[in-house]
Amino acid sequence: LHGSDLIIDDVTACKVDIPLKRAFTISRGSMAVAENLYIKVTLHSGIAGYGESAPFSAVTGEDREGTLEAVTRAGQSLIGRSAAGFRHLSRLIAETTENAPAARCGLETAILDAFCRVAGIPMWMYFGAGVTNPQKTAVTIPIVDERAFLELASGWYEAGFRILKIKVGRDCDREIEHIETLTGTFSDVSLILDANQGFGEEEAVGFIKSLERIGAPVRFIEQPVPKDDLEAMARLRRDHPFLICADESIASREDVGEVCKSAAADIINIKIMKSGVAESFDMAILALAGGLNLMFGGMVESRLAMGCSLAMACGVGPVHTLDLDTPLLMAEDPLDGGFRYEGPEMILSYDAGLGITPVCFR
Ligand SMILES: [Mg+2]
Repeated sequence: LHGSDLIIDDVTACKVDIPLKRAFTISRGSMAVAENLYIKVTLHSGIAGYGESAPFSAVTGEDREGTLEAVTRAGQSLIGRSAAGFRHLSRLIAETTENAPAARCGLETAILDAFCRVAGIPMWMYFGAGVTNPQKTAVTIPIVDERAFLELASGWYEAGFRILKIKVGRDCDREIEHIETLTGTFSDVSLILDANQGFGEEEAVGFIKSLERIGAPVRFIEQPVPKDDLEAMARLRRDHPFLICADESIASREDVGEVCKSAAADIINIKIMKSGVAESFDMAILALAGGLNLMFGGMVESRLAMGCSLAMACGVGPVHTLDLDTPLLMAEDPLDGGFRYEGPEMILSYDAGLGITPVCFR
């Protein structure tokens, strides 16, 4: 290995529009096509690494144009630097991509992918490989009408999925009806109810009581109330029987500390797309030290970003819950190589880095 081989020569991005099988609707908005970016970081040796930025404007306010600008700006500052210093580059990227975590995530993933390819190891080995056997993902049912809800749930159930994540927070009564029908049909499922901040505290209490009344098999409730209301989250945790997961409430290392201090959650949902790669890893370790359980999720990402999350989750794992399903919600997979799905199981690739090449860079 020569130091000069690791120097970053070029950073480029290409836009990719990935249609979804059906619109992905949550309490805060809807998406029919994932307007993402694939990023390529080329090293002096000629080896390249790839990353993905998946801005979800309804959730974080980021869009593709702003993300591309941030990638271009931060990318320029990386030229001539060594990919050996992933942590160093990560700090540099964070400084130039404020309020653009999707850009940060895409660049960090590409650098790490390139580094792992030079080293000749899969990224899940880089992260430590706490688990290596296939891990199962939950699958998400967005906000849809009752017929579509049951159709979707049956399809996933028949494909072997048993952890269903249901988007709620728009219409409590209707959502409870859907859940009651679902659990009457399938007795061995476990449910994540994700409100994406859609409830007020009182509504959340009502929703939780209804879940108790119908005996719903609740795995946990995710981000029931607005992200800054940690006190309400702590009360929901303290006064009711279900586990509470913080998602939007935690985007940084500091946020994990706050959630621990206020006893506002049992689980945190780590997403590289909201916190970047290096910071997400730190957040996972901090959370474990603070007695929290981990979930790994994502925005509407294809297998490239999701492969990085899977690698990290396997590194720090076993973890409480994996929610790495969005590639399955897409009508296309514009990528070659990498991990694959067999029903809910994710089978790791032994190729170096993520082993994934976007078709647009082939
Ligand atoms: Mg969530």
